[in-house]
Amino acid sequence: MSTKRDYYEVLGIARGADATEVKKAYRAQAIKYHPDKNPDDPAAAEKFREAAEAYEVLKDPQKRAQYDQYGHVDAGAGGFGGGGGGYGPNGFTVDLNDALESFLRNFGMGGGGFGDMFGGGGPSARGRGRNLQLELAVSLEEAARGVRKTVKVTKQVPCRDCGGTGANAGSKPAPCQHCRGHGRVRQVRQSLLGQMVTEGICPQCQGRGQVVQDPCKSCRGSGTVRGEESLEINVPAGVSSGNYMELQGKGDAGEHGGGAGHLRVVFNVRESEMFERHGDDLLIDVPLSPVDLMLGTKVEVPTLDGKVALKIPAGTQSHKIFRMRKKGMPHVNRPGTGDQLVRVISWTPENLDKELVKRLEQVQADLAKRVPPPGRHHED
Ligand SMILES: [Zn+2]
Ligand SMILES: [Zn+2]
Repeated sequence: MSTKRDYYEVLGIARGADATEVKKAYRAQAIKYHPDKNPDDPAAAEKFREAAEAYEVLKDPQKRAQYDQYGHVDAGAGGFGGGGGGYGPNGFTVDLNDALESFLRNFGMGGGGFGDMFGGGGPSARGRGRNLQLELAVSLEEAARGVRKTVKVTKQVPCRDCGGTGANAGSKPAPCQHCRGHGRVRQVRQSLLGQMVTEGICPQCQGRGQVVQDPCKSCRGSGTVRGEESLEINVPAGVSSGNYMELQGKGDAGEHGGGAGHLRVVFNVRESEMFERHGDDLLIDVPLSPVDLMLGTKVEVPTLDGKVALKIPAGTQSHKIFRMRKKGMPHVNRPGTGDQLVRVISWTPENLDKELVKRLEQVQADLAKRVPPPGRHHED
């Protein structure tokens, strides 16, 4: 069970709150508990982090719907959440750095200084590597059973020649002049929180307090080079297109030995020739001759588990749907399995030979008498 607080409670809003209310509530909470305003207050920092996490979920309609339906997903099963949720090994989480980035991204503190360092595309605070995203295509059958796939990820990896430090062997790093080796600098800035003196990461050395004097030639002093990594991905059973899992530390390596970003693996479940997917139910069409529908028959229906016999009673109308319980896709986030829906369709054979036409003509008039007049006849 998750011990997290309810996201709506965190932001102090009703479950029906619209996007504007969500953003407003987040802004108020974030400003109140911003670490710059509450230095050395871990409780405030946690509230700030919590508000950002709640906002990241509730601002995204897909994630919000997922959350509304399932709540905090207990990510025991391989650290995965479905329906477009992004879940790490501990459920969906953002850390304090993510929370600061989220705040800057959403309210654009910008204007130079630390805002630019936290936000934007490049390596994030403290030289952490970029987050990457990759799409992984699976067939419907693979999605149904779950599958292990090997993927090759091209990304920044630590430079082997310098061990990721960026410095040539034997060269000693020198203290950063900008921050005098502290890694942090103080700066006055204007922000949503008013004019404030803040301490932040030194932009010159990204908080390391040191600069490389004699840069490694292979990586030009960055400590990372282009490389490839093979990863084994366990695709959970029941995934849908757009579901993703986040692998911590599998993104780009950070420069100068900074931590690696995340890798987000987004699943793309290919359309099946056989089944039409409706959530976790699978629909299949079974064409039958009009005579089979009139007299009844037994058909072998393909399912994900192989063929299953289905009895079609006499007098079945075209387009009737039969439900085969638990023959669909497994639910990704909870126990259970969807159903397979079997739609029988009256199929009219063409190019009949003369002999068959003769036999059918004998019953044509009799059958015509039994058909109701035009009107509303469709059952579903
Ligand atoms: Zn190097
Ligand atoms: Zn510095």
